[in-house]
Amino acid sequence: MLYTSTRNNSIRVSAAQAIAQGISEEGGLFVPCELPEFSMDKIGSMVNMTYIERAKTVLREFLTDFTDDELDYCVNGAYAANKFSSSKIAPVVNVNGNENILELWHGPTCAFKDMALQLLPYLMTVSAKKTADGKTIVILVATSGDTGKAALEGFKNVENTKILVFYPAFGVSPMQKLQMTTQEGENVAVCAINGNFDDAQSSVKSIFTNDEIKSQLATKNMMFSSANSINWGRLVPQIVYYFSAYADLIEQGRIKLGDEINVVVPTGNFGNILAGYYAKKMGLPIKKLVCASNTNNILTDFLNTGEYDKNREFYTTTSPSMDILISSNLERLLYHMSGEDDKLITKLMSSLNSDGRYTVSKELISNIQTVFDAGFCDEKSVADTIHKYEKDFDYLCDTHTAVAVKVYENYVERTGDDIATVIDSTASPYKFSKSVLSAVNGSLNADLDEFDAVSELNRVSGVNVPEPLKELKDKEIRFTDVCNKENMSEMVFKLLEL
Ligand SMILES: *Cc1c(COP(=O)(O)O)cnc(C)c1O
Repeated sequence: MLYTSTRNNSIRVSAAQAIAQGISEEGGLFVPCELPEFSMDKIGSMVNMTYIERAKTVLREFLTDFTDDELDYCVNGAYAANKFSSSKIAPVVNVNGNENILELWHGPTCAFKDMALQLLPYLMTVSAKKTADGKTIVILVATSGDTGKAALEGFKNVENTKILVFYPAFGVSPMQKLQMTTQEGENVAVCAINGNFDDAQSSVKSIFTNDEIKSQLATKNMMFSSANSINWGRLVPQIVYYFSAYADLIEQGRIKLGDEINVVVPTGNFGNILAGYYAKKMGLPIKKLVCASNTNNILTDFLNTGEYDKNREFYTTTSPSMDILISSNLERLLYHMSGEDDKLITKLMSSLNSDGRYTVSKELISNIQTVFDAGFCDEKSVADTIHKYEKDFDYLCDTHTAVAVKVYENYVERTGDDIATVIDSTASPYKFSKSVLSAVNGSLNADLDEFDAVSELNRVSGVNVPEPLKELKDKEIRFTDVCNKENMSEMVFKLLEL
């Protein structure tokens, strides 16, 4: 299988090249030239497979330049039993009637990013051996909270890699911050920036393409790559769990092979839901993909009108991993849905860059609407939903999952479409203990510190606290650097000791 770029589709690269490089030279994103098709028989055959076998079945089709041994090494290492707190890796839990929650947070950092970022370092080091002749790969990450920690944990002490993470100083939860500032490993560094996630992301993008920095790196035999979901190696592992969830629903007797399902995804950078779109295109019977947003509802507006406009207020919410105004992976969807029109994508993205907005044709947006639905949820509804699910169904949702659950309820009310549905749950409730506790109890004692909130939430809900979060309490803080967004490139030099 070959990959091309959303902004120049005469480009052809292998999977290994796409993964090692991260982003295409002219700024486009790598996408598969064509998608593999899975027959119903093949989908049905996954029912009796483990998650690792399901992953190999899907990934084999995309990573055609990896040998079987390489694929085994990557997948067995990433989803090893000792790294995930559920033997199913991504279990599906029935909550209420046709509502099934796909729990994607049983990995080492308790957020769904682990599903991809446990695998990416393996894919990246194998890819680099094939294509980057022994260079050290420097992973630069801008994070709204969860990617940073998951990438640090995935890449820590991985040979021939270094990782630098930038996070918005006031845009992550206390638990997320602590997870990052206590990170262990010889090849890691973490720095806060005075700005929001979009500031961090656009500065990282400009460092990637800064020729002076790149040539400095080259003299040290280093090269940049990305662990953000602009990297194809981040997206492809996420396709797997849609097939896995479907197989689990069959196994649980909730659907029959061939039945359609709906999928609801709490969305930020549009990576997770885009993986669902690829699964659908490959033949998985998904009827609608419902894109759920918080108060930063730019995607709801876009999917309903065809106008993408980031000239609007930015809100800091209780679901920080979705506080995003530039959803990078939308570019890939627009590319596929516009009939692979690279000229159009180049134009739209340059208009986003210069004016902060673009509008797509009526035809294109109505095409998109045949596959996607969209809704958003305000802060009060997030809290009410967490409260209701804990009381009525004895199910504890985190804030991001609650956004999806509420948007799903609204979707059913609006459309009457209540077929079997998978709702992605993207974080452990204990990553956002204060918000979740305050929602469950209806109020919060302001004196509680983060770990008091964890214990109290455990007491009222009876849900186990994940080990990796418990352990944080006694860890030493290693990283305290803060910088302005203008100084990020200097920080990169300092952290890499160039
Ligand atoms: C990253 C993240 C999201 C958003 O996922 P995208 O792939 O960026 O759309 C949602 N919830 C949580 C908890 C996350 O960490």
